[in-house]
Amino acid sequence: MEERKRLLIGEGKISGYLSIFLAIISLGFVICAYFPDVFTTKNFRDIYDPQIVKWAILGVLVLSFAFAFTSFILSKRKRYGFISTVIIAATIFIGSALPETSGIQDKSVTIGLDWLLIDILVSAIVFIPIELFLPKRLNQSKFHSEWHTDLVYFIISHLLIQVTGVIIQMPAVFAFKGIGLESFHDNIQSIPFIPQLFVALLVSDLFQYTAHYFFHKVPYLWRFHAVHHSTKHLDWLAGSRTHFLDLIVVRAVSFIPIYVCGFSSSVFLTYIVIVSFQAVLAHSNTRINFGFLKYVFVTPQYHHWHHSDDPKAYDKNFAIHFPFIDMIFGTYYPMGNTWPEGTGLGNVKFPKGFSRQFIYSFTTDPSKEQNLKNPSER
Ligand SMILES: [Zn+2]
Ligand SMILES: [Zn+2]
Repeated sequence: MEERKRLLIGEGKISGYLSIFLAIISLGFVICAYFPDVFTTKNFRDIYDPQIVKWAILGVLVLSFAFAFTSFILSKRKRYGFISTVIIAATIFIGSALPETSGIQDKSVTIGLDWLLIDILVSAIVFIPIELFLPKRLNQSKFHSEWHTDLVYFIISHLLIQVTGVIIQMPAVFAFKGIGLESFHDNIQSIPFIPQLFVALLVSDLFQYTAHYFFHKVPYLWRFHAVHHSTKHLDWLAGSRTHFLDLIVVRAVSFIPIYVCGFSSSVFLTYIVIVSFQAVLAHSNTRINFGFLKYVFVTPQYHHWHHSDDPKAYDKNFAIHFPFIDMIFGTYYPMGNTWPEGTGLGNVKFPKGFSRQFIYSFTTDPSKEQNLKNPSER
C-alpha cells in the first residue's frame, strides 16, 4: 500500500480533521451526560463539577467551529467543515434537550467513555502540536497505514478501564491483603513527596523491567509482546498497541510494589499521571531529546531504540522511567545522538487490525518468520 503524504499546514485539511475530531468529542460528552451510569467511570464522577463540564463542552464546540471555519476558508474541498458542522449541530440539538439528572445508579460494570474522551482530548492537545511542529520523521503522516489499528487499541483499552483496573489489582490484592502492612504504609507515607514519588517510580519500573524482560526472552511470551513491537510507525497513538495479555500481566506485576508500599494518594495520583504521560511521550514522533535529561528519564529517542528493527539494538532499553536501570543490568543501548533507521519486526508479515493481532499471538510465533538464527536471539 502506498504511504500517504504528510499533511501540510495551510491546506485546510489539518483544521478540517481537528474540527471533526473536536465535534465528535463534544458529541461523546453529551452522550456521557445522557447515560452517566453506563458511560462514566465512578472514580471520575466523584470529582466532576457539572458547571466546569458544561463550559468545557461548550469550549470544545467553539474550538471545533473555529477549525471548521478555518478549513472552509483554506480548503478547496468543503466537506471537512461540512461534516463537523453537522456533528456540532447534532451535539447542540441533543445537548439542549438534556434532562435534569436525578441520582445516578452505581452499576457494577461501566464503560469508560468519559475517560476515553478526556484522555484523547488532552493527549491530542499536547502531542499533535509536538508532532506537527517538532517531528522526528518528517515524512511520516499522522494517517499512516497503521493508525486505524492503533486507534482501536486506544479506544478499547480506555473503554475497558474499569474491568482491566480490577484485573490488574487482583494478584497484588490476593497475595498481600490483610497481612498487616498498615505500619509499613505509615512509614512510606511519612517520606516527603518528591523522594516518595521517586521510590514509587523506581520500584514499579524495576518490576516492569523484569516482566518486560521476560516478555522479550521467553519465546511464548514474545508472541504477545511482538504485537507492541509490530508497528513501523511510532507516534503518540502507537504506544497503545499492546496485546491484552501483555497489558494485563505487565501492569499487574508493576502494581504489586505500589500496592505493598501503600504510597500516599497524592503520590499515587502523580505516579499515574507520569506513567500515562511518559508512555505516550516515549512513542511519539518527535525529535525533542531533552538535553542531559535523556540520561535521567526515558525519552522518545531512548524508547524508539527499544523498538528498533536493527538486531544490534534488540533486547535493549527495557526501562520505562529510568535509563540507569538498563545501565545497571547491562541492557542499555549506547545511542549517543543517533536514532534508529526503522522500527518494527523486520521481514515479519504481521497482520493489521486489533482482532487479527489478538488471535495471531495465540497461533503464530513471529520469531520463526523473523530474520534470526533462533528465537532466543531476541
Ligand atoms: Zn519491548
Ligand atoms: Zn513501546
